[in-house]
Amino acid sequence: METLRIEPIPAFEDNYFWLLVRNGDAAVVDPGDAQPVLERLHREGLRLRAIVVTHHHRDHVGGVAQLKAATGAYVYGPAAEEIPARDAALAQGDTIDLLGVPFTVLDVPGHTRGHIAYHAPSAHIVFVGDTLFAAGCGRLFEGTPPQMYASLAKLAALPPLTRIYCAHEYTLANLRFARAVEPDNAALVERMQRCEAQRARGEPTIPTTLAEELATNPFLRCDQPAVRAAAEAREPGAGADAVRTFAAIRAWKDRF
Ligand code: ZN
Ligand code: FE
Repeated sequence: METLRIEPIPAFEDNYFWLLVRNGDAAVVDPGDAQPVLERLHREGLRLRAIVVTHHHRDHVGGVAQLKAATGAYVYGPAAEEIPARDAALAQGDTIDLLGVPFTVLDVPGHTRGHIAYHAPSAHIVFVGDTLFAAGCGRLFEGTPPQMYASLAKLAALPPLTRIYCAHEYTLANLRFARAVEPDNAALVERMQRCEAQRARGEPTIPTTLAEELATNPFLRCDQPAVRAAAEAREPGAGADAVRTFAAIRAWKDRF
């Protein structure tokens, strides 16, 4: 059996719909638009078997109904949200098979109330939607800081070599903010240079790895003295614990 390939389908301003391919079969994660997916399927002669949704935002579900109608693909989505044409309603601990690879569902509320992630322990990959970004995290549209902090902690506990597939190319802007939080983090300087070169070549900076996020993503580093101190300097008292630090730097990023 051919090994699994995972490729981005860039769409809109900065979205990635992730296409999984194996032996002529395909699955797609968060297709906000059907057209670029249908074009890719047609060009490569692929059969779409599954549509996998992390949360209900339009840029993640906009193409679901049309893709299902065109291909008959089975639609997986979070149980706690309204997802068009959903066949299976998923929550924490559910397992699904995508092209022969077992995935476990993680509840990761915060960006939205019912947001889920899809983790394949054997393949060391996770699709995180808009929860975790390279050097950043999603905005808190429906959840609270403690909820989002717990969701990020759940992802941070996966094996460090896990490859993280996010739904947006926000990396350079996130790294600029990360450097404002941690100006003395040398790993950030190196990462910025590497990601700027990738973007200059027109390449995605995604996937990232958990190890890289643990070293450079301020939202996963709220237990670090430097990040605590930066939060405290913005908002007296915020440095007292990791959740308050998280809330303060998330609010700071919203205005950055
Ligand atoms: Zn979203
Ligand atoms: Fe999004």
